[in-house]
Amino acid sequence: MYFDPRPKTSREDLFDREEEVERVKALRAPITLVLGLRRAGKSSVILVATSEMPHPVVYIDARRFEAEPYLTFKHVAEALGEALAQPMRRFPRLREYLKNVKGISVTGFEVKISWRERGSLVEVLEWLNRWAEEDGRKAVVVIDEAQELTKLKGYNLLKLLAYSYDNLRNVYFVLSGSKVGLLKKFLKLEDAGSPLYGRYVEAVELRPFTLEEAKRFLEEGCRQYGVSPPDAEKVYRAVGGLPGWLTYFGYTYVSVRGEEESIRQTVSYAVDLVRQEFAHFLEGRWAAEKRYRVIMEAAAECVAWSELKRAVEASEGRRINDAEITRLLKNLVDYGFLEKRGNLYCPPDPLIAAAFR
Ligand code: ADP
Ligand code: MG
Repeated sequence: MYFDPRPKTSREDLFDREEEVERVKALRAPITLVLGLRRAGKSSVILVATSEMPHPVVYIDARRFEAEPYLTFKHVAEALGEALAQPMRRFPRLREYLKNVKGISVTGFEVKISWRERGSLVEVLEWLNRWAEEDGRKAVVVIDEAQELTKLKGYNLLKLLAYSYDNLRNVYFVLSGSKVGLLKKFLKLEDAGSPLYGRYVEAVELRPFTLEEAKRFLEEGCRQYGVSPPDAEKVYRAVGGLPGWLTYFGYTYVSVRGEEESIRQTVSYAVDLVRQEFAHFLEGRWAAEKRYRVIMEAAAECVAWSELKRAVEASEGRRINDAEITRLLKNLVDYGFLEKRGNLYCPPDPLIAAAFR
């Protein structure tokens, strides 16, 4: 059912995205990135793709770290330990391999990785690789919302990724990110001094649905419930093309029925959520809070850099230097609250705009 509000796990529930699922499944490079705004369907595409793979999949949902101000090795070791249970169930022989890792204890399907043994993460990957090689498979490590790991202190995850990239032929990473700028900054692919510099990564981008796609999504979704479809253009104008909001609308529409009422509920839910996410973003940035808000309010209708500068200056009644404005805008773009369209800064989605009106 297209309107099921949980992330989709099977192909029949996923509308379209055929090509994207195939690209993730193909594992064309040691690292595949799945990029897109929140609620673009990244988790769904990854879950559908991995469910169809004949490989062990270690799935770490890094959203669990969203509220943490910073992370330590212990957080990662715990998450990885938990994530190993599923592939071990599916491939019991994997257990025997993982038992070799120093600092790991395996009881039943429960894995505990000692946070004192820093080398254990490399070793886990090495044994996964060895098993995969001998079994003729690939070991797939998924880190969903991987940009959360930029908060990791005292452990160089980038080095681990680069080591795996170069040496572990049967280990593949799939990393997703909503805060695309942040994820790219973390991977430092274009930074000559960085461990991953110059490595090819496969990037799969999930765009919002077009009006045509949204229309088919709503029509086919409604048919699954035997309900006549809404005026798709109107819905699209109000909630935009992000699959997550369209799904929420559809879910409400097939239970509440009223088009207007379902739009209203979707907008109000979305606006609340975007505001919460923005409040999250502002944590630790209190000094510039007012400036960020002024910018978001001014940018709601798409404006140029100079316009935004003027808005901030007007709100403070004094001049502000250009570099500061540029820094604020870059952060907003990195976190997905704004995007650049030609010379203009715009909210990437109508419901993000609505949250600041
Ligand atoms: P993300 O991980 O990018 O934030 P999710 O995969 O969690 O997005 O999807 C957000 C919502 O949209 C979920 O309710 C999911 O079921 C729905 N959804 C996303 N893409 C599709 C799709 N192609 N077909 C049907 N539903 C989708
Ligand atoms: Mg997700």
